[in-house]
Amino acid sequence: MGGPEGGRTAHIITYGCQMNAHDSDVVMRTLEGLGYRGVDRPDEADLILVNTCCVRDSAEEHAFGKLGELRRVKERRPGTLLGVMGCLPQEPEAVERLLRRAPHLDLVLGTNQVGEIGEILAEAESARGPVVHVTEDWFTPPPPPPPRQAPLKAYVNISFGCDNWCTFCIVPHTRGPERSRPLEEIVAEVRALVAGGTREVTLLGQNVNSYGHDLARPVAFQDLLAALDGIEGLWRVRYTSPHPADFTPELVAFIARSRTVCPQFHMPAQSGSDSVLMRMERGYTRARYLSLVAAIRREVPEAAISTDLIVGFPGETEEEFADTLSLCEEVGFDRAHTFMYSPRRGTKAAAMPDQIPLFVKRQRLHRLNAVTDRLSRERNEAEVGRVREVLVEGPSKKDPKRLSGRTPQNRIVVFEGDPERWVGRVVPVRITAANTWTLFGEPMPA
Ligand code: SF4
Repeated sequence: MGGPEGGRTAHIITYGCQMNAHDSDVVMRTLEGLGYRGVDRPDEADLILVNTCCVRDSAEEHAFGKLGELRRVKERRPGTLLGVMGCLPQEPEAVERLLRRAPHLDLVLGTNQVGEIGEILAEAESARGPVVHVTEDWFTPPPPPPPRQAPLKAYVNISFGCDNWCTFCIVPHTRGPERSRPLEEIVAEVRALVAGGTREVTLLGQNVNSYGHDLARPVAFQDLLAALDGIEGLWRVRYTSPHPADFTPELVAFIARSRTVCPQFHMPAQSGSDSVLMRMERGYTRARYLSLVAAIRREVPEAAISTDLIVGFPGETEEEFADTLSLCEEVGFDRAHTFMYSPRRGTKAAAMPDQIPLFVKRQRLHRLNAVTDRLSRERNEAEVGRVREVLVEGPSKKDPKRLSGRTPQNRIVVFEGDPERWVGRVVPVRITAANTWTLFGEPMPA
């Protein structure tokens, strides 16, 4: 079977975090190497993959809903192969659940099998039933194939898995223990991207700043940042997600003087209450978190600080929740990603007593969002009148007649300008207006 322009076609539907988005990208690059062409619609594809997330119940239900829809696509287009990848198949008993609820599946691959898609596909093409490759034999995957064309901004995996076992989190189950890629291999990948035109890289890992401790010759995260700092043509380095417990004074000091690492600190606090942090087994206290914020403000005064917060963790009292609200006020977060706690099978927190009723979680989320949205708006409004260096990415998604880019602090800036002249360049922009999510400005004369 072939697509409208000949050759085999593939479509990937991605749920979840940046790690999943990057895995989808790596799979698509591998498929292109096998002669596939990406298409925008599942009903034009010979291969459809659903890259799943299981961080929250709702994400899992979305994936099952999508697999139900895709059954009809498969019925109309016999011969289409349908597969599932991502975190869901790695959950306890999830493969059985998947094959029971979606018996029309042809292949299921685990998070560590991303690099094996070619072999698994060849097996699925000749198999009579679903082909399942999900293991807990965790290893460090080989380097990904290079993209056909290097993007302006690229993601690069530096480590896989996590050793922290926060009590609410499914990731150590679904992505295994932490495995760092060798420093030289990462530097070579970034060099190749930069040679192709990439100007900004975001380093990816479940816990990026514990990078390197598991290598045969251990290195620190700032050793990797220092190596990247020396790559000519690389303008900006970001990383996600770091863990507050692994931010050392040396790392903050390095970032303060780095040429490329952006003044943007994403520090997932999760809660402002010591007793909740203890139950989450996060490895830091509110005081330690605040002292880190103070060090960042002192060393990198221009920094933006963002966070992730969970409301309704088991046993969370009104006082404990109030501690999260007061942490937000005390830090003045530039941005916050806020979530209701969702119990995940197999985690310690799912078995804790005093699960919080949904209506209480909803109400707390609403109250928290009111605070974090106000803080984001205030922090953005404080940008008005400043001049920021904006890496121009292309037309604004919401307003395609104008351009959009990001400041070093990762704020989105929308402004009028000539795409031919400015896309792919860093342009000084004077900020003239702001709302909760976006800055607006005018480019400064060259
Ligand atoms: S550090 Fe992050 S990925 Fe690791 S267990 Fe904790 S929340 Fe999950």
